[in-house]
Amino acid sequence: MAQLLKPDICIIGGGPAGTAVALGAARLASCVLVERRAPAATVPGRESRACVALMACARRAALAREAGELGVQVEATIDFARIRDHMWRTATALAPNYSAERLAAFGVQLIIGQAKFRDRRTVVVGDQFEIRARRFVVATGASSVPPPIPGLERVPYLMAEDVARLTELPRRLIIIGAGATGMALAQGFQRLGSRVTLLDAAAPLAEEDAECAAIVVAQLEREGVVIRHAVKIGCVAGDAGGVRVTIEGNGSKETIEGTHLIVATDRKASVEDLDLAAARVRYSDAGVPVSPALRTRNRRVYAVGDVVAGQPRSVHAAEHHAGVVIRNLLFGQRARVGPVPRVTFTEPSLAQVGLSEAEARQRRLRFCVLRWPYHDNARAHAERARQGHIKVLVGRSGRILGTTIVGAQAEELIAIWSLAIAQRLNIEALAGVVVPYPTFAEVGKRAAGGSFFMPGLVRPMLRRAVAKLRIFG
Ligand SMILES: Cc1cc2nc3c(=O)[nH]c(=O)nc-3n(C[C@H](O)[C@H](O)[C@H](O)COP(=O)(O)OP(=O)(O)OC[C@H]3O[C@@H](n4cnc5c(N)ncnc54)[C@H](O)[C@@H]3O)c2cc1C
Repeated sequence: MAQLLKPDICIIGGGPAGTAVALGAARLASCVLVERRAPAATVPGRESRACVALMACARRAALAREAGELGVQVEATIDFARIRDHMWRTATALAPNYSAERLAAFGVQLIIGQAKFRDRRTVVVGDQFEIRARRFVVATGASSVPPPIPGLERVPYLMAEDVARLTELPRRLIIIGAGATGMALAQGFQRLGSRVTLLDAAAPLAEEDAECAAIVVAQLEREGVVIRHAVKIGCVAGDAGGVRVTIEGNGSKETIEGTHLIVATDRKASVEDLDLAAARVRYSDAGVPVSPALRTRNRRVYAVGDVVAGQPRSVHAAEHHAGVVIRNLLFGQRARVGPVPRVTFTEPSLAQVGLSEAEARQRRLRFCVLRWPYHDNARAHAERARQGHIKVLVGRSGRILGTTIVGAQAEELIAIWSLAIAQRLNIEALAGVVVPYPTFAEVGKRAAGGSFFMPGLVRPMLRRAVAKLRIFG
């Protein structure tokens, strides 16, 4: 007979979203976390950390190659076994934080097994547990589903999250999917010595500001990555010795040969095994639709992280969702999802928060675009990272609507703009921030200050006011 549990909160899924809810709520409420994989296999965010570790190795290789231009001669030798080791170590470095022991120390009861709803207020795990919680949080994430390309199932290939499983550096690598992950992997492997071809049916980084995406694309092409976009992938063939991908476009066919194939296409929300219909929770392939407070149609059930429909999929989005749900569930607040930055971890990197220019135009908002280029930044010259710029969208009252940065450390620089948009700050606040010199952060301050106030100074009314002050001052 199944054991009956009656916790305050039952969380389904032990990825970054579910674990953050459990660890955050367990001090104040009784929590049960159900995860279908064994703890050793589920270290939240491990895929992203493996990719970032690969990029860190690739950056060292690129820096070594470029060092000669600054008068420092370095020879880079690639030892892929050690790179792979670094990826694994990075991926699993935080494992103890998510161990069953640590969850137990926080008061979370971890159940290993597949959860599914029986009715509006009951979840079952096999025939072992019946969980009747006060509230449920669905945090089942998304998983990679191979695209329906004829022949794919018959050739050896890796999904992007399995990149740490590569045993050798690919000589000629084909990557299908030119989104944020595909672009970062393409640059990473090219820098380590692979010859990379990137294929996509749409434009590379199609979701991003086109002007900023073009800067990233141009850099990858300069480094030797071959990017073939707007192509239809006809079929895939091959064996352990290599793969052949046939692409179609402009009425012709072409076959691209590689030694390895990585698929980095969209991920699909993991909703199929949950029996959400039994809980009267709406869902589709895109995920679970929620209110801004992350509540589903069933008021007892919330959804967080990648499983939520129409939200950016990232570890920081997952953790932000967790914070929103904890505030709503435990403190009765009316917290809502705020602006979540999106990052492409290439070099230069691309980071975006709030509205993009295209979105603001689509909504017919009145705004101006403040810009500042990296080539007007002292640090950028010292580091030879002069490519890129910041774009800040400012509404008529001075409110910041959105920011896009393409350039060195964009992923770090976006944080202050994320805060500014979440706190509905006026652009003056950013213009007044004192940032150290010489840093990349000055790019943002200059955009806010230089561009916004300088045209203002020549406004006739302001000019008259300054003239009067000169008389009396
Ligand atoms: C290759 C790659 C690179 C990435 N790089 C980055 C990056 O650089 N930065 C970034 O922010 N994000 C990155 N991401 C995205 C990031 O990993 C996800 O956004 C994040 O893991 C989402 O967390 P989650 O908890 O919502 O879902 P998941 O991490 O998918 O976790 C869901 C968990 O639920 C469990 N589960 C599912 N169904 C059930 C069930 N019925 N019962 C019990 N358990 C269940 C699963 O086993 C899984 O452990 C990357 C992703 C990939 C694949």
